[in-house]
Amino acid sequence: MIETRVAVVGAGPAGLMAAWALARAGLAVDVWDAMPSPGRKLLMAGKGGLNLTHAEPLAKFLERYREESPLAARCVAAFPPQALRAFAAELGVETFEGSSGRVFPTDFKAAPLLRGWLRRLKARGVRLRVRHRLTGLAAGPLLTFDDGATTDAPSACVLALGGGSWPKLGSDGGWVPLLEGLGVAVRPLVPANCGFVARFSPHMAAFAGAPLKNLILRFGDREAQGEAVLTADGIEGGAVYALSADLRDAIAARGHAILHLDLKQFLRNMGFHSFLESDNAADGLKQIIGEPADLVFVEYDLLPVNGVEFTRFVRHGKQAQIRTVPVVMVTTHTEAEVVTSAREAGVDAFLVKPLSGKNLHVHLERLEKVGRLPSSVVREQKSLRVKQAHLAVGDIDRILDEIGFKREHTVEAVRSTENRMLTDEEIASLFSGR
Ligand SMILES: Cc1cc2nc3c(=O)[nH]c(=O)nc-3n(C[C@H](O)[C@H](O)[C@H](O)COP(=O)(O)OP(=O)(O)OC[C@H]3O[C@@H](n4cnc5c(N)ncnc54)[C@H](O)[C@@H]3O)c2cc1C
Repeated sequence: MIETRVAVVGAGPAGLMAAWALARAGLAVDVWDAMPSPGRKLLMAGKGGLNLTHAEPLAKFLERYREESPLAARCVAAFPPQALRAFAAELGVETFEGSSGRVFPTDFKAAPLLRGWLRRLKARGVRLRVRHRLTGLAAGPLLTFDDGATTDAPSACVLALGGGSWPKLGSDGGWVPLLEGLGVAVRPLVPANCGFVARFSPHMAAFAGAPLKNLILRFGDREAQGEAVLTADGIEGGAVYALSADLRDAIAARGHAILHLDLKQFLRNMGFHSFLESDNAADGLKQIIGEPADLVFVEYDLLPVNGVEFTRFVRHGKQAQIRTVPVVMVTTHTEAEVVTSAREAGVDAFLVKPLSGKNLHVHLERLEKVGRLPSSVVREQKSLRVKQAHLAVGDIDRILDEIGFKREHTVEAVRSTENRMLTDEEIASLFSGR
């Protein structure tokens, strides 16, 4: 009888799972890998706490696969998150569900899982052939490896060669030309989970490495809850990764993308429960004219009307009913010109990002103390958040016209180097009398 033998190339989680399924089906399996040991990226993933899967309802879970969700639905139906947890348990690794719904091994590590997995494979007779990088592939299949001498002609082969990130861990995307050479169409490799470079003001440099917890990040109609970390030139972390494919596509199409940090979680923690929201100054004004808010948060970088002009309109516009609403500016701009013009326009509190719940609390408490935000009604309050967005100028002008807003200047984000950055203390003292 001719033995059916399958070669699995790539000893990451995908290859090891393929080997496991094949071996359990009674086939002879060889697993080849370029590196001296298997599962290097999996081990690296375990360093920061291995997030195995998610406990959310299946329909929501499948949304994570975006345009591939129909294909993923079939695969996931065959091996749902619960089955992955059972598989881990079978390998001797118990899992738990974190408060965010993410599922981790109880010790967060990948090494015990990998060890259990390799033991099981060995017990089933799977042979591991490390230090062999696949460099040639021909119909047959015929596999050739980088030493030039080793070849393999199995009954079938499974390629599980990973993506192109972290090449030092083994997967370098070198298989792309190999498959293209065989006439297989390959989609260009793109980052799937990545951080982003942000155009922060210089003020943010001091916060590189600062963790941001319990965030809600929003991009378009997608939302991600979790954590992130500020980097020297941007932002990364779990909540960012969850949106990174959408951000990546937007950047590829338009050259930029705006990721919103939702203040609502902070505010909810403080007892606020009713929110109006707007992506631009004009629409925000329209909203609070129609449905008065008790507190307004506004960014400076609104386009094309900035947050200072927005505040001027609130204070001096025709609509008397909105003139006294407390306005809190939230920004990374600490340039003297921005801070003083915000103060002159009637901004009540000036909050410099990155925000912390504590900082927000201190400012709102101060507003309560000076009677701008009566404490007795704080918990019933409705707040409006106006955040930055790129809008077609035509749209803005139409809405501004509709509500009788006279635009004094178009926004020129203040970036002049002569315009000195104010310190936290200077900003606090400018606003202390408010
Ligand atoms: C820092 C970090 C943290 C992460 N955290 C998580 C997490 O918490 N949860 C999660 O689910 N995922 C996480 N990931 C992602 C996860 O590690 C990968 O999605 C997963 O390893 C992909 O598995 P794979 O088997 O497809 O590819 P890989 O793990 O990359 O395995 C592919 C294997 O193929 C081998 N190979 C490649 N080319 C050849 C060749 N030509 N010849 C022979 N062998 C070859 C490589 O050496 C490698 O061993 C993280 C990744 C990183 C880098």
